[in-house]
Amino acid sequence: MSAIRLFFALWPSPPLAASLGEWAQAARPHCGGRVMRTETLHLTLAFLGPVEAQLADALAAATPDRCVPPGELELDRYGVFKRQRILWAGPREAPAPLQAMHDGLWHWLADYGLAAPPQPFRPHVTLLRNIERDDPPPPPPDPLIWRYDRLVLVASESQTGGSRYRIVAQSRPLSP
Ligand code: ATP
Ligand code: MG
Repeated sequence: MSAIRLFFALWPSPPLAASLGEWAQAARPHCGGRVMRTETLHLTLAFLGPVEAQLADALAAATPDRCVPPGELELDRYGVFKRQRILWAGPREAPAPLQAMHDGLWHWLADYGLAAPPQPFRPHVTLLRNIERDDPPPPPPDPLIWRYDRLVLVASESQTGGSRYRIVAQSRPLSP
């Protein structure tokens, strides 16, 4: 049976994605590298890797009921993952509600036989790849505010020239 590469993420609204795109453009003269396409920008909560189609279907069916408390996330800095040569935008560390969302998600995924990676959760939005230096530039003056009310389940499909993302399910927003 074929496997599908999946991850859970927060997906930005179009205006927020546009602002993140501006952050990417602003960092590029300093860092070099390749700007991520605006429509692909996201914050990964849980990377599952390849899962069998049957499990992928079960997760997609269960995702609408994985409601999350709505919240706000402030992205106030650039950071670099040196080994991966990535420039990202994010908070300094995971705020408690986001960490709880990550932990709760993995706790639930354990029921499906999936285990969290040993590394700590580092919330970030990848803006540039193949950067040419190790130090991030100073951030723009105004932080970005991300208001979220749902998580999305995304399939990552290889294509020539990189991966393509397809949203396969999303959680129902809680009514206010
Ligand atoms: P490609 O790997 O083809 O260059 P990609 O990294 O955008 O493209 P995926 O590797 O499918 O696509 O990753 C999807 C998302 O999950 C990205 O946000 C990526 O940073 C994240 N991710 C990938 N591998 C891991 C991992 N081992 N641990 C945590 N997050 C990961
Ligand atoms: Mg990858």
